[in-house]
Amino acid sequence: MTTSQPRDSDGVVIALARAPHGLGGYLGFRSTSFAKFDDLIEALTEYRAVVVVAAYPIVVRALTKTLTSKYDDPTVIAIDEGGSFVTVLAGAHHGGEQLAVRIANFLGATPILTTASRVSDRIALDQAPLIKLDRVKAELQARLNHGVGLTIVNPTMLALPQSVLALEHQGPDPVKLVISDRVCDQELGDARGVLPTLTVGVGCSSDASCDEVRELIATTLEETGLDPAAVDRVATIERRVHHRALSDLHQEIVGFTPEQLDTVPIPTPSEVVHHSVGTRSVAEAAALLASGDKAELVVAKVKSQKVTVAVARRNRLRGSLTVVGIGPGSLDLLTLRALGALRSAQYLVGFKRYLELLEPVIERGQVVKPYAIGQETERVLESISLASDGNRVALVTSGDPAVYAMAQLVIERLPINLDVRIVPGVTAAYAASAATGAIVGHDHVMISLSDLLTPWSAIEARVEAAAQADFVIALYNPRSKQRTWQLEKALAIIGQYRRSTTPVLIASRVERPGASTSITTLEEFDIEVVDMETIVIVGASTTAFNQGYLYTPRGYQGAR
Ligand code: SAH
Repeated sequence: MTTSQPRDSDGVVIALARAPHGLGGYLGFRSTSFAKFDDLIEALTEYRAVVVVAAYPIVVRALTKTLTSKYDDPTVIAIDEGGSFVTVLAGAHHGGEQLAVRIANFLGATPILTTASRVSDRIALDQAPLIKLDRVKAELQARLNHGVGLTIVNPTMLALPQSVLALEHQGPDPVKLVISDRVCDQELGDARGVLPTLTVGVGCSSDASCDEVRELIATTLEETGLDPAAVDRVATIERRVHHRALSDLHQEIVGFTPEQLDTVPIPTPSEVVHHSVGTRSVAEAAALLASGDKAELVVAKVKSQKVTVAVARRNRLRGSLTVVGIGPGSLDLLTLRALGALRSAQYLVGFKRYLELLEPVIERGQVVKPYAIGQETERVLESISLASDGNRVALVTSGDPAVYAMAQLVIERLPINLDVRIVPGVTAAYAASAATGAIVGHDHVMISLSDLLTPWSAIEARVEAAAQADFVIALYNPRSKQRTWQLEKALAIIGQYRRSTTPVLIASRVERPGASTSITTLEEFDIEVVDMETIVIVGASTTAFNQGYLYTPRGYQGAR
């Protein structure tokens, strides 16, 4: 029978010359250099995991003197002195390959993985971070080795490292592997891999004990369903880093100055804490600060007598919201950027008619959320909420997203923590102008005649100012079934400043089925042909025709 002798120490990075900077800290290992061969021998007998930076023959020679059995041997990773290759020389199945991959990722080196499941290009569950080797896992590995597929379930939308994503594998009867940091997610699949995502922030008084800290962390995690195995560091105020209450936890500890902590926006600031240590928050701020700029606070401050604890999560996949202008209608006026944004979205939200126009570019698997006319706020709120849940969302608008459309509303309603991207589009005025020449060829303004969101007095004042200043005037939303008199009123105002023979472009359904354009004059204008899908563009005093094209000269030739 073989018994397994527990080794005293966790891990060491030992280097012939110099360990790659920061590797020890990154792994949570001690870092040391060795002068004598005996130092290496000692490390190989003492530690559970040894990362050696040296020429491989030296390591192999040391191993021949120290290896005893598969069960007792440490995990031994060797890195060449150039830092190019990382390989596992012993203990591959104790998470050795996973460790090698982590180190290789850190160094930008190539991991050399040689165990059976790798060689046959089957899936090695060891590659997934931190799945403890247990019976379930061994069974799963056996199934995988028989060629079944593997699907990853990611219920909390974590940003999964490449080494985990690479486990996904098409095949019959796929194993469902849940990757998460919550115990309750176990039920969503056949096995669960724990991704280290959590930092526990701890604040404590000077007479707090490690037992109290440990107890509060344990109950907090238990009550919130978070997995203790997903916690890979503790964060606190600098002056507590070496306090026994924390150092006895045997976790990686990160400390911050009161000034650093005080820069972090947190939900429950405390003036009492500020008074005594110079920052309004220790636990919450430290947890967030140690988790980088995409952190989210998953447990706000919890207190026992002398200890406070908070938990932050990093690695959450952030959703994205792109407001995409699709142009006036025809798909060949969709920009490549807009097409890219549409293609990469999981959800497409927008007015039903525009989504119909997009049908040829919508791909299988994309979820379409059509809305009726109006409902702008609903569309925006649904897009924001889908994106906040970690999804990639495209909110579709016609023309340009900022021209009487939804980009502004999105920005107004944007929660912190969500990035938004606006993709411009060809607006109706430019498409209409181009269809008949270049009426917008000199200074022009866009005015919406809709008085639903703007008082008519303001619209009227702008129309008058534009007319007076001899701008080309593009009138959006000129007329609808409910708004019938505004257009006539606007044209009358413009008529006070322009000749009655001034050309006016009436363009309906530009670049859409049933498109029509007509050119008339201020005096001959027929209101009845104008509807919701029409844009009216009134020329300036210089607007003219040449060979049938309507244009406003810029003044290069025959400039007055
Ligand atoms: N964001 C859009 C405008 C939305 S406001 C853009 O940049 O084009 C809606 C108004 O735009 C309509 O009432 C109409 O006046 C004009 N419009 C939009 N698309 C049009 C089209 N294809 N043809 C004519 N007018 C259009």
